[in-house]
Amino acid sequence: MRFFSSKPIIQFALIILLIIILTGAVFSQFTSNIFVLIIVLLTEYIILMMLLHYVFDKYVLPIKKATATLGELAKGNFRARMHHPVSGGMASLLMKINELARNLSELSIHDKIQAEQLSTVIENIQSGLILIDGKGYIHLVNKNFLSIFGNTEKDYIGYLYYDVLENESIHKIIQQTFLYEANVKESIIVENGLDNYFEIVGAPIFDERNMLKGAVIVLYNITELKKLETMRKDFVANVSHELRTPITSIRGFSETLLDEDFNDKDATRHFLGIINEESKRLQTLIQDLLNLSKLEKEESRIILSTLDLSEVINEVIPVLCQHAKQKDISLHVETDSNLKFNADLTGIKQILINLVENAINYTPKGGEVTLLTEEQEDTIHIMIKDTGIGIPQSALPRVFERFYRVDKARSRNTGGTGLGLAIVKHIVELHKGKIEIESEVNVGSTFHIYFPK
Ligand code: ADP
Repeated sequence: MRFFSSKPIIQFALIILLIIILTGAVFSQFTSNIFVLIIVLLTEYIILMMLLHYVFDKYVLPIKKATATLGELAKGNFRARMHHPVSGGMASLLMKINELARNLSELSIHDKIQAEQLSTVIENIQSGLILIDGKGYIHLVNKNFLSIFGNTEKDYIGYLYYDVLENESIHKIIQQTFLYEANVKESIIVENGLDNYFEIVGAPIFDERNMLKGAVIVLYNITELKKLETMRKDFVANVSHELRTPITSIRGFSETLLDEDFNDKDATRHFLGIINEESKRLQTLIQDLLNLSKLEKEESRIILSTLDLSEVINEVIPVLCQHAKQKDISLHVETDSNLKFNADLTGIKQILINLVENAINYTPKGGEVTLLTEEQEDTIHIMIKDTGIGIPQSALPRVFERFYRVDKARSRNTGGTGLGLAIVKHIVELHKGKIEIESEVNVGSTFHIYFPK
């Protein structure tokens, strides 16, 4: 059998030789003419050789080529094709092999695209990701995971998770995922210099027979959310604190006034004065809180219209002048006339009032406050400068925070809520402008605002 299947061309040649010898022996019985015998055998030889060539070209060679093509396909070379001019059954075999090769090639391209898409998603996902097999060996870590924990892929892939991951909370999550065969969730802090908060989720992976195959661990960065949560808690605590002081005062004095034995007329007037002051403070605080919450709303829209800045200043300046006069402060206004730009009228008034009032409040008697406006190349520049107490450099980055005050007692005495600059900053940002401060303690402060034209 091996003999027949190994070298078909030799087999054919041997069969032909055998046929020629046999026919030569048979034919020699009928003729003694050697010449005729040679002619007959030669003709027979030629016919048989042509037959041999036909069989070889039609069947043997295509089968050899088909075997080679299938061999290439089996090796994964799906671009291999069979080329041989044949007809009949062999042609249909050739077509089927080429069709199979084309289908395999399409399948492999499809698989490749899918694998590439999956790896793009895994690499670009905003969360860290690790894939662990059923024995605890790490098979995959994505780019984000490496940016959280450092090192390179080589330091993780192929290692047992507990040998290369230091964070005990992650070990616990992995163990629980394997133990309960269900999703497990926990918040952790990763101490990588940035102390980021992560929500870590472990999800088991099952095979088609529902057997546990491994687990995927995903780390979501929730630092921003935590920050917002802390800010919200701080804000609620601050608001409660700010409200408590005037309310305690109002309640205390009103209770004293309600006492039947209390008849002191002068003290009554004094206490009513305090109650009045504290209720005004409450009103200002609530108004500022409402303004701030309005500005912070997602859908908060400023109503833009063409404003003449000097006209707006003229509207607000009388009140501010009165305040400056009471404090013996000279208020200078230097403004370019015909300075027009698109802005929200209420917002701009609020900015001017808050900044000039602050300048007056934080400047001692006899000081100076200057309000200057000018048109620059691409911006409208508003400057409010005072010769007041100034702001220490360390406090400058914080003055726009809600309720932040450099000197709490001083701010309270001026009737400040600690929200004025937070409101100013919001309005400036809604106009896509920017605000800057220069300040020196006991020399003065200058606030610059730049609005795009
Ligand atoms: P407040 O209502 O307390 O004035 P703001 O938000 O307007 O609140 O200002 C925050 C803090 O910034 C103030 O408490 C004060 O310490 C400081 N500040 C603001 N403007 C000035 C200024 N022109 N000079 C000195 N300090 C200022």
